[in-house]
Amino acid sequence: TYLDLQEFCQQIIKEMQLTYSGRTINLIAPQDCWEFYGDPKLLWHIFTNLLSNALKYSPKEKSVDLEIIPQELVTIVTVRDRGIGIPPEAQKHLFDSFYRASNVGEISGTGLGLAIVKRAIDLHKGTIEVVSEPDRGTTIQLQLLNQSPDKI
Ligand code: ATP
Ligand code: MG
Repeated sequence: TYLDLQEFCQQIIKEMQLTYSGRTINLIAPQDCWEFYGDPKLLWHIFTNLLSNALKYSPKEKSVDLEIIPQELVTIVTVRDRGIGIPPEAQKHLFDSFYRASNVGEISGTGLGLAIVKRAIDLHKGTIEVVSEPDRGTTIQLQLLNQSPDKI
């Protein structure tokens, strides 16, 4: 399905702000980044999991960025937070089911979100890259092919 990525993101941000009220999510996207050919359900899983992590693992007063860069063959999606970060030794386990890093403290979670994201990205023939520094923040960048995903 073709979808208007700008509108899709605005809707997800609204949804996230119901759960995480008072938080700021900056959408950085060109006006004309519509016509993304993808599966809305898979994209919903990807975006809500990444944004909920960014919000959950950063203090209330810090904002979160969602950036969309449309290119000819791929769409680059970046989610950036200024939170607790991911310890280096945890980074290779992030996509394992039920895995949670040692620095999560009282922040609750099941450790399944990123496993779902990874699966959805694979179906979309995309890539995911994590850059993180403890106590500074985390940036997660996706490249999603501009084509419909494999059958689930
Ligand atoms: P849930 O299943 O509810 O999403 P979760 O957030 O613990 O639970 P994942 O989303 O799979 O699980 O993330 C796995 C682990 O990766 C987290 O427990 C956390 O340790 C780390 N993590 C993920 N995103 C971030 C982030 N933006 N900042 C810091 N740590 C993160
Ligand atoms: Mg999560």
